Amino acid sequence: MIKLKEFDHLLVTPGKKCKLSKFATDSTRHVPPREKADVATQQAGEKLAELQDRLYAEGRRSVLVILQGMDAAGKDGAVRKVFDAVNPTGVQVTSFKQPTSEELRHDFLWRCHAKVPPRGYIGVFNRSYYEDVLVVRVHADRLLPPELRGDKGEWDRRFHMIRHFENSLCDAGTQVVKFMLHISKEEQRQRFIARQKDPTKNWKLAAGDFVERTFWDDYQEAYEKMLPETAAPDAPWYIIPADHKWVRNYYMSHILVAMLQKMDPRPPVMEDKALIARKFK
Ligand code: AMP
Ligand code: MG
Repeated sequence: MIKLKEFDHLLVTPGKKCKLSKFATDSTRHVPPREKADVATQQAGEKLAELQDRLYAEGRRSVLVILQGMDAAGKDGAVRKVFDAVNPTGVQVTSFKQPTSEELRHDFLWRCHAKVPPRGYIGVFNRSYYEDVLVVRVHADRLLPPELRGDKGEWDRRFHMIRHFENSLCDAGTQVVKFMLHISKEEQRQRFIARQKDPTKNWKLAAGDFVERTFWDDYQEAYEKMLPETAAPDAPWYIIPADHKWVRNYYMSHILVAMLQKMDPRPPVMEDKALIARKFK
């Protein structure tokens, strides 16, 4: 059994001021040495696969994993590595990009609600409705509908909507867990350079990424406002030190296993085994 408590040091405390600079991006404390950690991550991945099977067999609940982080924080890599061993049929990954004109005519939760994992599944949101209080807040002058610009109450309204939304998911049997992949500005630079140099990674680097980087502090501030407003005991935010990919993978896989072990999904017991056996004689 992996205990969730072991990862409490990464939790955002609901309602309490959150200073991201206080969370080290390159910390390896609380994590075994690299080689041991990699083995443990692989084992956790296999456990996760087994737990997802049980979740499916039980057919009553689901898990929603939300991934947020700056550009190049490792969201795609995390999906690839952490869910490596899980049956692809059991995981539904959705990447949220700039909203379409149809999506913009709805409330910001609409497109995400449609992608919440059904019972039995693990759903992963690679970005999410949190973009609507992050990138949209940083670029409110351009991304917020004109009638809302200058309306200071809008962010509180959005936090309120998010809290209610996640509460109702919880009531409906969806466990929500949120990871903020926390990298340093320097690590982002290194990863951008790597993307620039490597022809197989070029496509990942958008022209706008360097522009967005100049808004680094605004993004950090938007995160710091959002995290304590939306952290909840039933929908926790974990700040994952993500400069080292192996540390990120270790934490995410272990937290997910601990969470699913706590949920303890159980396949239903066949009501009348004798009757079924007779039927198939
Ligand atoms: P990527 O994750 O690199 O594929 O990029 C997706 C882009 O979509 C990022 O630049 C996000 O900021 C942007 N994006 C995602 N959701 C929203 C949103 N609700 N409003 C505006 N931009 C968004
Ligand atoms: Mg990108």
